[in-house]
Amino acid sequence: MRAAVLHEIGQDKLEVLDDVEAVGFGPGKVRLRIRATGLCHSDVSAMSGVLPQPAPFIPGHEGAGEVMDVGDGVTGLSAGDRVLVCWLPACGACPSCKRGQTQLCLAGFMNAGTPNFKRPGGDVFGFAGTGTFTEEVVVGAGCAVPIPDDVPFEIAALIGCGVTTGLGAAINTAKVEAGSSVAVIGCGGVGISTIQGARVQGAAQIVAVDPVASRREAALRFGATEAVSPDEFADAKQRVTAGEGFDYVFEVVGKSATARTAYENTRRGGTLCIVGAGAMDDNFQVNMFELFFDEKRILPSMYGGGDVLRSYERAIALWRAGRIDLESMITHRVRLDGINDALDQMRTGESLRTCVEL
Ligand SMILES: [Zn+2]
Ligand SMILES: [Zn+2]
Repeated sequence: MRAAVLHEIGQDKLEVLDDVEAVGFGPGKVRLRIRATGLCHSDVSAMSGVLPQPAPFIPGHEGAGEVMDVGDGVTGLSAGDRVLVCWLPACGACPSCKRGQTQLCLAGFMNAGTPNFKRPGGDVFGFAGTGTFTEEVVVGAGCAVPIPDDVPFEIAALIGCGVTTGLGAAINTAKVEAGSSVAVIGCGGVGISTIQGARVQGAAQIVAVDPVASRREAALRFGATEAVSPDEFADAKQRVTAGEGFDYVFEVVGKSATARTAYENTRRGGTLCIVGAGAMDDNFQVNMFELFFDEKRILPSMYGGGDVLRSYERAIALWRAGRIDLESMITHRVRLDGINDALDQMRTGESLRTCVEL
């Protein structure tokens, strides 16, 4: 079958091959036919080595498709079911799951170190234990979450990562209050979802910050009340908050420099929410005096910061009710052969979300 493979960490091009096999099917597993997958910035970060990932590997973790086959012991799923791919499945039994923080469950994630593909040349890993830039993939049953019939595959794919991450940051983690002032730094697919989450929560002002003009324009369409480039951010803070700083600032880039900017633009007693996925050697610095004296709340948000199944259901309910717009987030569509062009469009900020149809 066909799949897009990265041979070595640090390369920026994938090779589309037709000699890949999905392996590992057996008890507790399901075989999926992927129909749509989104390009998430984490795929690019894993390719470049910012996020840890063994190679060779097949990127992609934001996918949806159909169940082809279910292994022994799998309940609640059968061949033909339409599902989205959850890259962080909850085991339901560990301390994190019992607390209701299934986004912190590591049980299913342990599969990430086991190759779930192979080629004549040897083993191939799937990103984060999934790997959706492929026609077929074998994953644990917990990674396959049934979706209602009215949710198209491409919409379900986005809910599998970017939308859940961004909406959840605003709703679950920061719990944006009605009437508050919000700034969102970084307006790709996750940042746009954060803006939509802040709007759903009733934020009065939402300032989008991004160096790319097309993303600033997009942010306005999705609910930002104004959109500025990074060098205009200080002005916006002055104008919108009389210099005090925003009630909430979301860092959706994953870099210490933008996190520091976000911290400085959060008001005293306000909330800095870290949404971007960054590198292990990039340290965020806060001095002990400001940490104590300014009482800013630093809240990291992982995969929406709440129960992931509940987050999916909520995203679907909001989308169905027309309260969030997911269709317009898909700015580009490609087939697997166009994957490298799509990666370039993501790197330059030209695309919000590219959907790969399989
Ligand atoms: Zn668990
Ligand atoms: Zn992602």
